[in-house]
Amino acid sequence: MLPIKQACGNIMIMILNYVYRIYPDSNQVELLNEWLETCRISYNYALREIKDWVASRKNSLDRCSLISEYIMAADYPFPSYHQQQNNLPKAKKQFPRLKSVPSQVLQTNIRRLHEAWDFFRNRGYGFPRYKKYGQMKSLLFPQFRSNPLTGWQIQLPKLGKVQINLHRPIPDGFVIKQVRVVKKAIGWFAVVAIESDFELSSPVPHGHSIGIDVGLLSYVATSDSYIEPRPKFFKTANSRLKVLQKRLSRKMKRTSHAPGVSPGGVSSRGKNYEKARIKVAKLHNHIEFKRADYQFKLAHKLCDMADTIYVEDCDFRIMAKGMLGVHTIDASFGQFRTILEYVGKKRDVFVGKVDHRGTSQTCPNCRSEVRKELSDRYHVCEECGYGVDVPIDRDIASAQEICNRGEEAVRPRVGVRRKRGVQAFEETSKDSPSGTPTKRAVGLTVLACGDTSGGESALLSLATCR
Ligand SMILES: [Zn+2]
Repeated sequence: MLPIKQACGNIMIMILNYVYRIYPDSNQVELLNEWLETCRISYNYALREIKDWVASRKNSLDRCSLISEYIMAADYPFPSYHQQQNNLPKAKKQFPRLKSVPSQVLQTNIRRLHEAWDFFRNRGYGFPRYKKYGQMKSLLFPQFRSNPLTGWQIQLPKLGKVQINLHRPIPDGFVIKQVRVVKKAIGWFAVVAIESDFELSSPVPHGHSIGIDVGLLSYVATSDSYIEPRPKFFKTANSRLKVLQKRLSRKMKRTSHAPGVSPGGVSSRGKNYEKARIKVAKLHNHIEFKRADYQFKLAHKLCDMADTIYVEDCDFRIMAKGMLGVHTIDASFGQFRTILEYVGKKRDVFVGKVDHRGTSQTCPNCRSEVRKELSDRYHVCEECGYGVDVPIDRDIASAQEICNRGEEAVRPRVGVRRKRGVQAFEETSKDSPSGTPTKRAVGLTVLACGDTSGGESALLSLATCR
């Protein structure tokens, strides 16, 4: 659902992913399942080739391995994407099963493996893994000559017309770029990528601004004293989930004779096991959808309240490793921040990140340090008396501090930095009397990209300055 913007020459291309539910008939479901399985096998085959090549490079030149020998010439090329893709037509002659899948779907499937490989190379961890039965869950149709949407149906290659619930229309000026068919426990979905060459300017800080603090007690607290209690998606469904998981654990996972299933596929999985597994997966789907729906509505609500929103730049993965990990994961703050940024872009609301360190330990009024334990729920400042007469919730005080930091970092500098870019920021922060960036300056950097004089609106993106 997130917009991807790519600069192509002077035109900004906007890509949006719209998700629709589709209703393939029983023949189409059978075909789709078969394609997924074929794609899974070809993915694993291609991964085996890569693994063999990697293993062949592991042996030392001067001795033999005690475990295994991979005999591959020293100049044997790495099985690249293009090589593996070009091998597909040959493989089709050997394995006629591959012919039933649209060739572009097979190609993008191989590309997916190489994307995973590239990620591994860049990050240094996360070697691509084999996909087990049922783990391949989506197929990508990367190209359409004409609009595949006809009324309430979508035309997919080799599959024909599939019923689609077009609950929201494709906006004017957008064309369909690609379609990914996704299998979930509750049904099938089509993620339709639509593209437009609209000139879209990113929102800039303007109007009324608020800071928001996220937490487990109150999900969101804003600097305008609005508090949203935390909904407990996982906990409410937990008792039902426990029952279903218990039932699943009592089913036989493997049976020697499962009727009406293809060899090598489901044959090893019991029919009752599958039924119970799908029930668990459906409940998880339900929790996931409820959470996303809530977060979208909350993001719109916040965008109604302000023109500029500041959030913390926390790494919520670290928070999720703590004692309240389950609750943190259930709240999924990271997903909420991403959704808020997306909704903000659509509604011309600027969403900026600020330094999260010490926001709850600082007085938003006089900026002095006010130490609090987690049990202290109210902010009371001895220095300036803020919160002495009227108690201030600590989350609200923290949101006000976030708003202060955002305001200080963005407002006075925008005009200057638009012309001078990042360097200007670095210079101004170096100019501070102590020679090091002040805490106020550490908050935000506004990078001005693109030529403002050329009519193209400045792309203001935020990056935290560490
Ligand atoms: Zn104070």
